[in-house]
Amino acid sequence: MFIDYETFRLRTDALALRMAETCRSAGRDPTTVRLLPVTKTYPATAAEYVVRYGLLAVGENRVQEAVDKQAQATVKVRWELIGHLQSNKAKLAAAHFDRVQSVDSEKLLNHLDRAAGELGKTLPVLLQINAGNDPAKFGAEPAAAARLLEVALARKNLRVDGLMTIAPLSDDPAVARRTFANLRTIRDELTARFGVPLTELSMGMSGDFDAAIAEGSTMVRVGSALFGPRG
Ligand SMILES: *Cc1c(COP(=O)(O)O)cnc(C)c1O
Repeated sequence: MFIDYETFRLRTDALALRMAETCRSAGRDPTTVRLLPVTKTYPATAAEYVVRYGLLAVGENRVQEAVDKQAQATVKVRWELIGHLQSNKAKLAAAHFDRVQSVDSEKLLNHLDRAAGELGKTLPVLLQINAGNDPAKFGAEPAAAARLLEVALARKNLRVDGLMTIAPLSDDPAVARRTFANLRTIRDELTARFGVPLTELSMGMSGDFDAAIAEGSTMVRVGSALFGPRG
């Protein structure tokens, strides 16, 4: 059975408190880090809890699952795609998501740009970078980030908000921390080179959000710490 709203509220309160404490020890203003609850694998009710709590967006990693939940949901919320996207689903993703965080190839940029153009909308995107050089993760290689940004900036129907990464799975917390520091460095270099702000740094999940906040995350994507273990 899925958790009740009260459980979600208590967990989210506790998480917000801990995020604020982590911000303070890192010398950061707590209002500069947002929480994106990740509702993948949980029922559409999860998105309703998020809205009831006063948060504005949820993360989903599969297009079709989000489309199905949007049909069921009784509330309005922003939907962000955080999972790998195949070019043949770009059109559906552009129609059903308010932002795509997982853009990692020129081909995908081109498909999303065309789809957004047909829909008459500007689609916000993040470029997903494999900042931990993890062979098991999607995301553009760090060395390809500049070229990817160059292409993205030339696409009229896309707006590049920043970068996203997923840290490699590791027992050593230093691995995640290094990955997040690397993404921030890549962002700083791209900002200097292209003169664009790239303000959003989407990094950190249930197991590593403290390290991500310490390294400059502006958005942590948290699922299981709020909604419980996935079945
Ligand atoms: C599932 C997922 C998350 C959330 O993971 P938790 O460990 O449940 O917090 C964050 N980001 C991405 C890309 C995900 O796929």
